[in-house]
Amino acid sequence: MNLRKSEAVLQFSPSSIYCQAADIHIDPWKPVNRAIITHAHSDHAKPGCRHYLAHKDSEAILRMRLGSDISLQTVEYGEKFSINGVTFSLHPAGHILGSAQVRVESSGQVWVVSGDYKGQDDGFCQAFEPVKCHHFITESTFGLPIYHWKPQVELMQEIKNWVISSIRQGKTPVLMGYALGKMQRLIQGLQPFDFPVFAHGAIFGVNEELRRFGYSLPFIPLLTPDTPKQDYKKALILAPGSALNSPWMNKFEPYATGYCSGWMAVRGAKNRMTIDRGFVLSDHADWKELNSIISATEAEHIYVTHGFTASFTRWLNEKGWNANEVKTMYGNESVQEPDTHQA
Ligand SMILES: [Zn+2]
Ligand SMILES: [Zn+2]
Repeated sequence: MNLRKSEAVLQFSPSSIYCQAADIHIDPWKPVNRAIITHAHSDHAKPGCRHYLAHKDSEAILRMRLGSDISLQTVEYGEKFSINGVTFSLHPAGHILGSAQVRVESSGQVWVVSGDYKGQDDGFCQAFEPVKCHHFITESTFGLPIYHWKPQVELMQEIKNWVISSIRQGKTPVLMGYALGKMQRLIQGLQPFDFPVFAHGAIFGVNEELRRFGYSLPFIPLLTPDTPKQDYKKALILAPGSALNSPWMNKFEPYATGYCSGWMAVRGAKNRMTIDRGFVLSDHADWKELNSIISATEAEHIYVTHGFTASFTRWLNEKGWNANEVKTMYGNESVQEPDTHQA
């Protein structure tokens, strides 16, 4: 069934997913009157909107990044709210702390916007919950069969072994990944620490903001220009991807670099970036998860957004789904830290 634009509960434009009946945008790229934000990553949470609505676990970082005085309404997962006769609720997306799928119901039609999501329970944010719907808008960041994630425990052990062997070889291990999401997952998953740990300012900033809001994270000291070399020489350094090849790294010589990203599943990505060790750790669904989660929604219509949209749409259609490719401006999980928060 082809819905005419005016009949669809949600409409797509390059700069947002829009609900005309409620006059509200989901993850808009431009300032709008009212926005629902799926999560606090910078390609989904843009500044300048008049009113924001998000899950309560997104509040700390949204206020830190968009301004402490933004107009922000927060809700719990599953809490229903109505705007102009359209019923909305947020549901766990398992991507990062506070990440949500947006369920939109109008005249008996249920639409779900996945935002970014992953199926694996990372032990830090609330685990993904499939939501049954008629129309499912899915991301496809890792929508190719080559993307397959190992169980998290196994990967954390590999990272620990790499840290310990780097220190034994006289090199300071510098582990990189997104400051928001990936790092808290690592901090949680690598405990108990058998070595000292220091954080780059961008990571320290996010951690401390979350701790201030009451989230349970151990204190990881900030690495400052005054930190004596003997303190961090045999320590694990946590850094955002933007630190790679930056002068900030010089003080660690000799060091070993490790990078956590789904893209590390492809050898070329690691080689291009000249990193010593790639760890395939992603906050997005892998190929298997994408497919099983789409099945679990029992949706009649699938819309494929950011990622391998063309090939994943083709795959779904070949499997008998009614899938359409949708162009949005959301970024892929990039290897470089997209966050501008520096310290
Ligand atoms: Zn994200
Ligand atoms: Zn995204």
